[in-house]
Amino acid sequence: MERRTPPSAETAARSPRGSVRNTPSPDAGVRGSKVLLYFLALMNRRYCCWLVLALLLLLPNHNFAQSKPAADLIVTNAKVWTVDKSTPTAQAVAVLGERIVAVGSTADIDAWRGPRTTVIDAHGKLLVPGFNDAHVHFVTGGMQLTNVQLKDAATPGEFARLIGERAKTAPKGEWILGGNWDETKWNPPNVPTKELLDGVAPDTPVFVTRYDGHMGVANSLALRLAGITAKTPDPPGGTIVRDAQGNPTGALKDAAKDHMDETVPPLTHEQRLKIVRQAMSYAASVGVTSVQHMNPDYEDIAAYAELLQRGELITRIYAAPYIMQVDDQAKLGIGRAFGGPYLRIGALKAYADGSVGSKTAYFFEPFLNQGGNRGLLSDEMHPISLMRDRMMKADAAGLQLCTHAIGDEAISTILDLYADVVKAHGEADRRLRIEHAQHMAAKDFDRFAQLHVIASVQPYHAIDDGRFVESYIGHDRSSRTYAFRTFLDHGVRLALGTDWEVAPLDPLLTVYAAVTRATLDGKNPTGWFPEQKLTVAEAVEAYTMGSAYAEFQEKEKGSITPGKLADLVLLSDDILTLAPEKIRDVRVARTWVGGRLVFDANADIQPVVKISR
Ligand SMILES: [Zn+2]
Repeated sequence: MERRTPPSAETAARSPRGSVRNTPSPDAGVRGSKVLLYFLALMNRRYCCWLVLALLLLLPNHNFAQSKPAADLIVTNAKVWTVDKSTPTAQAVAVLGERIVAVGSTADIDAWRGPRTTVIDAHGKLLVPGFNDAHVHFVTGGMQLTNVQLKDAATPGEFARLIGERAKTAPKGEWILGGNWDETKWNPPNVPTKELLDGVAPDTPVFVTRYDGHMGVANSLALRLAGITAKTPDPPGGTIVRDAQGNPTGALKDAAKDHMDETVPPLTHEQRLKIVRQAMSYAASVGVTSVQHMNPDYEDIAAYAELLQRGELITRIYAAPYIMQVDDQAKLGIGRAFGGPYLRIGALKAYADGSVGSKTAYFFEPFLNQGGNRGLLSDEMHPISLMRDRMMKADAAGLQLCTHAIGDEAISTILDLYADVVKAHGEADRRLRIEHAQHMAAKDFDRFAQLHVIASVQPYHAIDDGRFVESYIGHDRSSRTYAFRTFLDHGVRLALGTDWEVAPLDPLLTVYAAVTRATLDGKNPTGWFPEQKLTVAEAVEAYTMGSAYAEFQEKEKGSITPGKLADLVLLSDDILTLAPEKIRDVRVARTWVGGRLVFDANADIQPVVKISR
C-alpha cells in the first residue's frame, strides 16, 4: 500500500508511453525562490521591485515560514541499504527533483513531506541504489528480447525446430539472428552445422550465434550471401570451420564472423530506436538504472542522443566505442566520461582475445587435449605494437581504456601495454579497465593492483563457464578463474556487470552467482571454488559504487546519499538476510531513475517484453 498526497499524483503524471513522470515538481516554495533569484540576477534591481512583488503574488502555495522545501518523493518505512559507509542503513529517503535530498529515519524524512509529495510505504522492504551494469551490449541485448531464443534448446532437434518455426513467420528476406545456442547442453556436444539449418530454413538467411558471442553458425543461403566458400581463407584471428573435404560447415569463429556481420543488412534508425526503448524498459523492470555499453555502433549512440533529446532515456548510458575508432574521439578532444547524467562517452573498448568456451581465449599454456592450441589473440592485436599505438593515442587524448581479456596471457599482455601507457604518460586518474579478467596468472594480481586496473567482471559467467572450464584448462588454472575474492584481497576494485546479451541482464541473478558460485548444472551447490565467493554486501557495492567508479561517476551515483541522483530500486525480499540460493527468485518491486518511477511491478508500468529466466 502507498500513502499518497494527493492520492493519484503518480498516476496523473503517467506519460502516454506508459512510463511515469514523477510529477510533483519541486515544491512551489523552492521553485518560487529560484525564479526570484533568477530574475534578480538577470535584471537591473531598479526595475525589478514591482516585478518581484507581482511574481510573489502569482506563486501558488508559497510558504514563507517553511524552513526547507518539500520533497517530490519520499520512500519511507524501508530498509535502506545505502552503500554509503557514513550511513550504511536508514529507514527513509527524500527526493527533490532528480536528486536525493535526505536519508534518515522515518521521522527525519517525514519533515520533508509537503502537500504534493508522493509517499511510498515500502513495508519494510529493501531499498538499494539502482544497479549499474558495467558491461553490456545494450542494442544486441534489446534485439535478443525479440530474437529466436535458443539458449534452452536441449537437443539439436529442438534447436532446429525453434529456427524452423521462426522461418515460417519471418518476413521474406529478413534474417534469423542471435539465439545464444549452447551445444554443451547436447549429447554429444557437437557444434551445429549448416545442414541442420538448411533442413528447416532453406529460403531464409540464418546466422545464429553461440551464447558467448564468439561463434556463429550460418545456413547455406547465408554463406552464399556472404560469399564464403571452400576457397575463402581464414581471416587473422578467426576460423571458418571446415569438414574433412575442406568445405565450410557453417560454423564461424571470432573474426570469421565479420564476413556475416558485413552481410546482414544494418538496422534502420527506427528499428534501433524501438530496440533501445525495449531494452530500457526491460532494464527498468530488473532494477538496472545505468549501463555501460561496450563497443556500440555510432548509430547506437545517435539513437541514444535522439532519445535523450526527446526526454525518453530512462537508463543512464556510458558508451565505449571500439578502439579502432580512436581517431574520431581523439580528434573531437573529448575526454573520459564526457557528457551528462543520462549519456556519456569518452571510453574505448578493445579486444585482446576470444572466449574460453570457444577455446579462443589466449593462454600461456595450451588447452587440455587440444593439440597445443593456446587460443587466439584478437585480430586487432596483430601486431601488438599497433594496439600499443592506439592505446597511447587514446590515453594522450584523455580517453578511458576498457579491454576485453579472458585468457591469462591475454590479461598479462594487456597489463604490459597498460604499464607502457602509464610509463609514457605518467601517473593519472585514468581508471584503466580489463573486461572479464577471467583467468588470471598468479603473478598478475599484484600488477593488476599496482596499475590500479579495475576488474570489470560478470559473475554469471562463473556459474555458466564453471560447468566445463576445469575440463578445458585443469584444476590449477581454474582456481584463478573469476577470482573475485583474490582480487579484493589484493586491493583491486571490482565493477560488476553481465555482458548482456551474453548473460541475462537481471542483477539478482548476478548477485546470486557471485555469492553462491553454484554452477548452472547443479553440480556445485556449495560453490565452484567457493573460496572466491563474495558476500551480498560486497556484490551490491561492486554493482553500484564499483560500477559508478569504473565510469568516473562515483560522486553522482552508486549510493543512496544526499546530493546524488535518485536512482533507487525496491526489492521484493531482503537479499542481505535471505538464504543465498533464494536470491535468484527475488524480484524488483519498483525502480526509480532520477526520482522518476520507471517500473512498478504492481501497476501497468511493465516492460514491453518479458522474458522468462
Ligand atoms: Zn562483452
